[in-house]
Amino acid sequence: MRDEKDGFWNPEVELMGAEDIRRLQLERLKGVLQRCKNSPFYRRWFRDAGFDPDAVRTLEDLRSLPPMDKDTLRSVEPWEFLTVPREDIVRMHSSSGTTGRATVIFHTWKDIQAWTELGARCLYMTGVRRSDVFQNMMGYGLFTGGLGFHYAAERLGAMVIPSGSGNSKRQIYLMREFGTTVIHVIPSYALYLLDVFREMGLDPRRDTRLRIALVGAEPHTESLRRRLEEAYGFKAYNSYGLSEMSGPGVAFECPFQEGMHVWEDAFILEVLDPRTLEPVPEGEEGELVFTTLHREGMPLLRYRTRDLAFVYPGRCRCGREHRRISRIKGRSDDMFIVKGVNIFPMQVEKVLLETVGVGTNYQIVLDMVGSREEMRVRVEVTDEIWHGDVRELQSLQKRITAALRDEILVTPIVELVEPGSLPKGEGKAVRVVDRRVDLGGE
Ligand SMILES: [Zn+2]
Repeated sequence: MRDEKDGFWNPEVELMGAEDIRRLQLERLKGVLQRCKNSPFYRRWFRDAGFDPDAVRTLEDLRSLPPMDKDTLRSVEPWEFLTVPREDIVRMHSSSGTTGRATVIFHTWKDIQAWTELGARCLYMTGVRRSDVFQNMMGYGLFTGGLGFHYAAERLGAMVIPSGSGNSKRQIYLMREFGTTVIHVIPSYALYLLDVFREMGLDPRRDTRLRIALVGAEPHTESLRRRLEEAYGFKAYNSYGLSEMSGPGVAFECPFQEGMHVWEDAFILEVLDPRTLEPVPEGEEGELVFTTLHREGMPLLRYRTRDLAFVYPGRCRCGREHRRISRIKGRSDDMFIVKGVNIFPMQVEKVLLETVGVGTNYQIVLDMVGSREEMRVRVEVTDEIWHGDVRELQSLQKRITAALRDEILVTPIVELVEPGSLPKGEGKAVRVVDRRVDLGGE
């Protein structure tokens, strides 16, 4: 069937030249806009913006339509977005909705197939093959991380172990019993799992057959990736997706690991300045904004992700001309301000994971002490440090404080804590606990 040597799941699309991609995008965009006329929401949205979907001649013409965001999705009944009859919908997914009403995405059968196809493309690109055993350690359910790649791995022909999230000892048992070679995992959980391996007297390098990890669903640093690769002996590939764009499979790393290729036959990517909503100059950091080109049930036009990243210049050595985005620096929503300084949790993580003696979990706690803001970074240390010489603990604390001050320009209180003592959820890690009262902002 497919040539195993070439490394491309869908060579025709993956090796399309940049100009052909643009041409395909325009053709598909026109189709999407026609389809949107069936949706009560889009009819209003177009009318209010004075946007004529029939007048679109170039990709740039789309810019006269205002971008939409989570609030836009929440502001109307989700059914109003549909461009197909309700009975054509076969599945819904929803974001976690931790802040306000959850956002809902509806999928037709064709939508699920298209998403599966993109996922298979991602997996194949990293070297996953039919002979692999794919342990899917993502939550199944409304969250898209689980089901998205479950079907993708099956489509590819790998054997899937739908282990879901949590239950760490069982995860390790399954890995060993069934010879898992590929895992799909949240990076903070993979880091935590190392503690469980150690507790069980096991070494993942020696005692598993893992060779590939697909890590995604939360922003993480390059240092965290390297740490996982060293400890597990696998190659970790960065994955990008969000439920509004169906889920994982929007962008993925190729074997060269220099940014994640956005599948531009399926999405129009824009990188905008989040304040002015104008495109940033090529290569500069901005907010990722996507338009779906392959979704029929509920297309989204110019959807603001809040994710900040930049586009790599030039061509990738793998031959794909689908543009590459950088690792996500953080969601603009994740950024917090202490003493007037903008800080991303990722900056703190980078410092911590580059420091020897730091364990597998950390937490940032923000408090008001009188009228003064206080930033506390609670850091789990390794067993060796915790049970070792107290002077080493003190010296580690000083080193972390100094390194954090250099990175974030604020001096936090660094508190070193016992391994395993910080709260650990099974899903995405909660890195920042903000206990400050309303600071009189918005
Ligand atoms: Zn590449």
